[in-house]
Order: sequence, then structure tokens, then C-alpha cells
Amino acid sequence: MAEKMRKTKILATIGPASINEKVLNKFKDYEVNCLRINTAHGNFEQYTKAINSARKIQEFCFLLDIKGPEVRIRTKYPIEVTAGQVVPIGFNKKEDAYFSYDFYNEVAEGDKVFFDNGQIEAKIMLKKDQKIHLKFVEDSVIRINKGVNIPNKELKIPSLSKKDKQAIKYAIDNDLDYIALSFVRNKKDVLQLKKILKNSDIGIISKIENWEGVKNIDEIIQESEGIMIARGDLGVEIPEEKIPIIQKQIIDKCNEKGKIAIVATQMLESMVTNKLPTRAEVSDVANAILDGTDCVMLSGETAAGKHPINAVRVMNKVAREVENNVEKNIDLDVHGNMSEELSKSAFLLLQKSTANKLVTITRSGYSASLISRFRIGKPIIAVTDNKKSVRKMALVWGVKPILLDKIPKSSMVTRVGLHLLKRGEVKKEDFVIFFAGVKTMQEHVSNLIEIHYIKDLVEWKKKVLNGELKKLP
Ligand code: PEP
Repeated sequence: MAEKMRKTKILATIGPASINEKVLNKFKDYEVNCLRINTAHGNFEQYTKAINSARKIQEFCFLLDIKGPEVRIRTKYPIEVTAGQVVPIGFNKKEDAYFSYDFYNEVAEGDKVFFDNGQIEAKIMLKKDQKIHLKFVEDSVIRINKGVNIPNKELKIPSLSKKDKQAIKYAIDNDLDYIALSFVRNKKDVLQLKKILKNSDIGIISKIENWEGVKNIDEIIQESEGIMIARGDLGVEIPEEKIPIIQKQIIDKCNEKGKIAIVATQMLESMVTNKLPTRAEVSDVANAILDGTDCVMLSGETAAGKHPINAVRVMNKVAREVENNVEKNIDLDVHGNMSEELSKSAFLLLQKSTANKLVTITRSGYSASLISRFRIGKPIIAVTDNKKSVRKMALVWGVKPILLDKIPKSSMVTRVGLHLLKRGEVKKEDFVIFFAGVKTMQEHVSNLIEIHYIKDLVEWKKKVLNGELKKLP
């Protein structure tokens, strides 16, 4: 195992294939940064078992993926259909197969309905007695609980279901770190979740998976801590050939604002069954990183695939190989808020001076994200006294979070620098930029830059000890 920290973060979905000690230990070895629980599957009891098993191994960051305005087909067993067959499916929970949301009055005969990330196509031939009669294009098997898409329809489905609300409470009660909200259409969807989360410091990752989300991306980014480009559903809701450019545009916008970007779905899809990835999949992971994503995600590969360990091994090595070639040209002329402006100065100093490391002192992790967005090759250390922020920064590119019991109120920079020296995170010969928020009543504000040789901090300490200085500067 290489000892240098990987900069690209890996989010792995957990499920039956990965919830065991051996696999989770390997996830730790290959530096999986965050574990995703997809509430489309399983129940709260199973999630608790999974979380407890993982927490025994490491204090992983956890992301709970809630389904939002999503439609699924609920079936007791896989349904086999043949090409041309017409199958009536309704919305009654007592039936063996039904849709999770009643869209009967919102669709018309002739509309297309897709299942399982668009792999199965059908057409509505008839609407009768609260059932839609679907004619299937090819011989297919509709697997249990698969997603359903009706492209170009803005369904009136509520943003949060009853199960979503239970899941939100579950995330708060179990001290989880992020909630990923599916099918976000506009900022109202995000604000509704924020309102329920109230004072909780759980971060919101908005999943972009339809046109509305793409169209309203700026306001969604503004209200979210991060964006997941959920290419599975996105590729059904909009023409799939548009996805590569949309991916790049969303990542650029996230980078610009210092928000987390996650590229998700089918990254190493063939590894659900195969031991090795295809060359195209390796290139997809590499290209997402070169686009500037903070994080790459594994879904079925680690949740239900045959080779979960191999999948994270491949992602780890591909990321390590390509990540040092990422170049980001954030437009320094676009006016931002005070913290964004100050982060540009810190970046320019880091780029143009002989400083070789940057230390952010941060409560929420925001100032670390602001620096990370420049994708500078030099290490970024983020010191915080908030355990949850340590876990949350697991998704931010290039950031190494360090927990301190307490951020010192006086001589903050000097004391933090000396502490990092003691822990081996910085060396005496390092020339370090400190970037922090101090003496401010506002949250998420960075207002300080200091630059020091660590050896100077050591000298000051000596002078205090021998009485030459009254207190640490
Ligand atoms: C996706 O559609 O790409 C996605 C990540 O969502 P889910 O896995 O919930 O379908």
C-alpha cells in the first residue's frame, strides 16, 4: 500500500456483497473514504447492522441516499416479459407488482416507460381501471425494486416520502454525515430537506438525475454541500450522449463554488460480474478525475457485485495514477464572497511563493473546500475540533482532515502549527500557509492568512520557555 494519501475520494455503496469484516477491512486498506447506504434497498435494522460493523473497523464517513421524488416498481419476484407482450401494471400495494407512486393521471397512452436505468423499454398502450398496459420492446427481466423513468414528465410526486422522512430522522439519530437527495428538481427540494434537518450539521448532496435538476443547477449548488451526477437515471431522463458534457459542466460549477462533486454510476459496471474492468471503464474513472470531480462512486459493484474488493482496488490505483495531472483554471476574476476572494489569495501565495503546504483551521470544512477547488498539487491539511467535519471532509479532494480536541483561542496559528509538528504532519523545514476563520460571528467565513516557517514557531516556543517572550505570538 502506498503511504502517500490519495487525493481523489472514493465513495462505495455497501450492501450484501460488502457488509462483512473481510471486505470492510479491505475498504479501509484501499482508503475508501465514505460508505453509501441506498435506502431503495433493505431496512433500518439492516442499515444499523452495517453501520455498526463498519464503525468497528474505522470511523467511516456515512452517506444515506434517500429516494426523494423517485418511482420504483415493487415486485415480489423478478418479472419475465417477452418482446411485444402487453402487461397491465397498477398502483395497488396488494398486487404482486405495482408502481411506488401513482402517476395514472399524469401519463398518456403512447408515453414511454423505462425500467432499471433505462435498460428495459415499454410503451403505454392503454390506460384502464387504474392500470397502465405496457408493451415491452424486448425480452427482459424486470428485477425487484428497480427504478422507473418516464422521460419528459414533471411528475407531481412529493419531494420527500414518508420513508424519506423516517430515513432523515434515522440519519440524525445515528450521527450520519451526509444525506443524498434523489431527483432534486430545484432549490425548493433542497430547502425542504434543510428545514427538516434544522440545526443538524448533516451535509446535503443533491443528486442530479433529470432535466429539471440540470436546468436549475446553479440554485441547487448554492443550497447544497455537494452534487452527485447520478448518471444512471440521468441517462434515461435525458439523451445519454449529453451526459459527458453535462458532467463536465456540473463539475466546473461545483469547483467554482468550492462544493463537492461526485461522479456516480456504472463507473466499473462490468466488475459486478467480472474480475477486471474494461479499458473504457478505467478511462471513465480517469476522465471524471481529470474533469475535476472530488469523488468517484461505486454502486452495484460494491453493494451486490461479485468482486467488491477488486473494484475498490482498481479505483484506488486509477485515481492515484491520474490525479496529479488534474489542472483547474478557476476564473480568478469572477467575483465571489469574502471567503472565496481570500481563498484566491491563499492559492496565489501557494502557487507563487516557496510555501510547500497549506493548513486550514476550520469548523465546518468550508475553508478546506475553498482551497481544494484549485487542485494544487501541494498538501492541504484541515484542522478542526469537530468530529463530524473530519468525517465530512472525507469527500473533499486532496484534503487531509486532522482532529484536534480544541482549537486554541489564543496564539491559534502557532499552537496549531506546533501541534501538527508533534504529530508529524508538518516538518521543521516546512514553509506553511495558514488559512482560517477567526474572531467572526458568522459561520462559514474565512478571514485570515498567515505564512510561517515551522522552525520559527519552534523558536518562539523556546523563547517563551526560557522567558525571552511572554507568550506565543
Ligand atoms: C443514479 O441513478 O445514477 C443513482 C446514483 O441513483 P440510484 O442509485 O439511487 O438509482
